[in-house]
Amino acid sequence: MNSEVAYSIVVPVFNEEEVISVTYERLKKVMDTTGKPYELLFVNDGSADRTAQILSAICQKDTNVKLINFSRNFGHQIAISAGMDNALGQAVVVIDADLQDPPEIILQMIEKWKEGYEVVYATRKKRKGETFFKKWTAAVFYRLLRSMTDVNIPVDTGDFRLIDRKVCNVMKNIKEKNRFVRGLVSWAGFRQTAVEYVREERFAGETKYPLCKMIKLSLDAMTSFSHKPLKLAIYLGFLFSSLSFLYLLFAIFERLFTSYTVPGWTSIMATSLFFNGIILIILGIIGEYIGRIYDETKNRPLYIIGSKEGFGRGGESCE
Ligand code: UDP
Ligand code: MG
Repeated sequence: MNSEVAYSIVVPVFNEEEVISVTYERLKKVMDTTGKPYELLFVNDGSADRTAQILSAICQKDTNVKLINFSRNFGHQIAISAGMDNALGQAVVVIDADLQDPPEIILQMIEKWKEGYEVVYATRKKRKGETFFKKWTAAVFYRLLRSMTDVNIPVDTGDFRLIDRKVCNVMKNIKEKNRFVRGLVSWAGFRQTAVEYVREERFAGETKYPLCKMIKLSLDAMTSFSHKPLKLAIYLGFLFSSLSFLYLLFAIFERLFTSYTVPGWTSIMATSLFFNGIILIILGIIGEYIGRIYDETKNRPLYIIGSKEGFGRGGESCE
């Protein structure tokens, strides 16, 4: 029976050969202390290094381990979604593979879950070993996003969280392509609470979130949870038409009551460059939304699974 699995731990993994065995050991140690049946569900997001082989070997010797191999790199948020789609547990925990999120916190999350909370997210009290740029951009991003949307998305909180089976079922039914999973979990509602933790340094290897992926994630977050960027055009339009009206009054005054006539080239260039800049920005924003509408209408599957390992063992039903 599926209900036998109490806890599912979903781990998105992309090129983490240096750390993945240690992550497995730490997760196993923590989960063994719960005394309940659990599964460690690794989603290999198209790693090009030895991650797949290492995980496959672990999967063969430990029946609690399951592995999904994507056919290519689909991205962190999609890997998490695939994990949720395939998880069987009554509570599902999402955790990064690089040990920046300490597995021991899972036990605190489980305690809160037992108290009746359906979403337990982990808020970063402190971030160790990350660059000033990363911390600063992350802090600005969370606050900007919060000011732009009506959904109560907690600040300084990543995807490290526990969700109840009910919430997991809601997530499975959300078919959005450009996903910002933590926003969707907040949007789903239910009883939510936080545990605080200190975000550790990456155990080994480099970040798999270069600037371009960070920008993609923040654009997904903002466009899927706010229409405010689209309204920017209206606000700017009002602002600049008021300013130009004042300038017009000044120009008429100057023409009628002074003898000084301006050659005019500089001001025309300045206004035209400025307004062209604004128009391009607004077009860009509209483009971001239209691109996403296009992605949704294509209706392609969210991810493609290359292979699955470790499923259908221990009496539970296979997919
Ligand atoms: N990750 C992934 N696919 C990607 C990028 C990252 O599955 O395309 C995984 C990565 O292996 C890690 C987690 O997502 O488990 C978070 O990535 P990372 O630690 O590099 O991000 P950071 O902590 O630097 O923001
Ligand atoms: Mg990390």
